[in-house]
Amino acid sequence: MNCAVCSRYLAFINKIPLKKGIIYCEGCRPADRRCAMIKKRCKDVLRLDEGEVDYCCDCDDYPCESLSRLDKRYRENYGMSMIDNLEQIRSIGLAEFIAEQSEKYRCPRCGGLISVHNKKCFKCDKIVSWKK
Ligand SMILES: [Zn+2]
Repeated sequence: MNCAVCSRYLAFINKIPLKKGIIYCEGCRPADRRCAMIKKRCKDVLRLDEGEVDYCCDCDDYPCESLSRLDKRYRENYGMSMIDNLEQIRSIGLAEFIAEQSEKYRCPRCGGLISVHNKKCFKCDKIVSWKK
């Protein structure tokens, strides 16, 4: 998950006023040390905590059932694949992945980032909730 295009993170960094449906997150890694998405269901949580596994694709179980389920939900609901993202990071590296993501989700009006969740720009669109 690229935090930069997550509604909860975009709400946090753009200081969208908190109200019902607006949820802040400072980023998975700072908030939950390594992974907030499937950490509770991760079989290799010890190696994750010790930093031996940096991304899911570094794990022996990759792609595990938890990741596959999350990937399916994101593909269906938000048109984004976590597994495709991981494969891209593996093939082109993190820096290039982030550069491509910044282009892909750039707002054509203001240059801000568009959320993968509600498809809105958190700089120039009206934000009602992280989903809408
Ligand atoms: Zn914009």
